[in-house]
Amino acid sequence: MIIDCHCHAGRGDGMTAPWDTDAPLDRYLERARRAGIDRTVLFAAFHSDFAVANHEVARIVASQPGRFYGFAFVDSVHDRGRIHDLVRTAVARYGFCGIKVHRYHGDMTREVCDAARAFGLPVLYDVMGKVSSIEMFASRYRDVPFIIPHLGSFKDDWRAHTAIIDHLIRHPNVFTDTSGVLRFDLLEEAVKRAGAHKVLFGSDGPWLHPGVELAKVRELRLSPRDERLVLADNWLRITAKSRARAHRVQPSVRGLTAPPPPRTAPPAIAREASFEMP
Ligand SMILES: [Zn+2]
Repeated sequence: MIIDCHCHAGRGDGMTAPWDTDAPLDRYLERARRAGIDRTVLFAAFHSDFAVANHEVARIVASQPGRFYGFAFVDSVHDRGRIHDLVRTAVARYGFCGIKVHRYHGDMTREVCDAARAFGLPVLYDVMGKVSSIEMFASRYRDVPFIIPHLGSFKDDWRAHTAIIDHLIRHPNVFTDTSGVLRFDLLEEAVKRAGAHKVLFGSDGPWLHPGVELAKVRELRLSPRDERLVLADNWLRITAKSRARAHRVQPSVRGLTAPPPPRTAPPAIAREASFEMP
C-alpha cells in the first residue's frame, strides 16, 4: 500500500501561477498508477473562497472514494470566523479527514487549531520556512497531529530543513512529508534522527511528479518496516479516527451538486504567488 499524503486538485481562481490556477489530475493519476501509488490525499488549489474550492474537491473525492481522501483547505486570515463551519461542512457533508493550511495566507491561528481539536483532525500546515512557530501550536495542541510538508520549506531552505528535525524529535504530534525536498541528505538525516515514524511520503502533485518524489523515498533504503511507515502506515495511524468517521459519510457526486452559499464579503484579489509555493 502506498499513500500519497499531499496532492492538490481542482481549479483555483487566481491565475497568477500554476498553484492558484489549476490542479488537473489526469496526468497525475497516470503517473501515480505507473509508480504503484494506491491512494492519494487531495486538497484544493489556492483559491479566494475555500468553501467553493473544497466543494469541488469533495466532488472529485466522491467520484473515486476508494482512491482518494479529502482534506479541507482553510485560509487562516480570510476565513476567520467561519473556519469551524467550513471544517464542519467538510467533515459532516464531504467525509473529509483532515485540514490543510498554508502560511501564504497567514500564520496558524487558535481558530484553526480549535477546529482541528473539535473534529479530531490532523492539520497539514506549510510553515514556509517559519519553523520556530511550530513550538507555539504543537506544544499547546498536543492532541492535534501537525504534518509540516516539504521538511519545513518548499524553497530549498536548508536552515528550515535542519531546524525542523529538532521539532520532529521533541514533539510527538509533529510530522513532516517528503514532497519537494531537494536536499536528500537532510531528508535522510530527518529519518535517521527523528525516526521513520515521523516522516510521510507526499508528492505535491499534480505539479510535481509522484513517481520522481516516490523514488526519493525508495532511495532512503529503509528497512521494509520503516518504508511501510513512510509510505502508508504513518498516515493511516494519524488519520485512523478521522477516517473512521469519514467512512460513515460517503457522499455521492450527485449528492454534491448544490453549490456552497455565497460569501458575505467579496473575495480578496489574489496576491501574486511567490516562488515558495505550493
Ligand atoms: Zn502543496
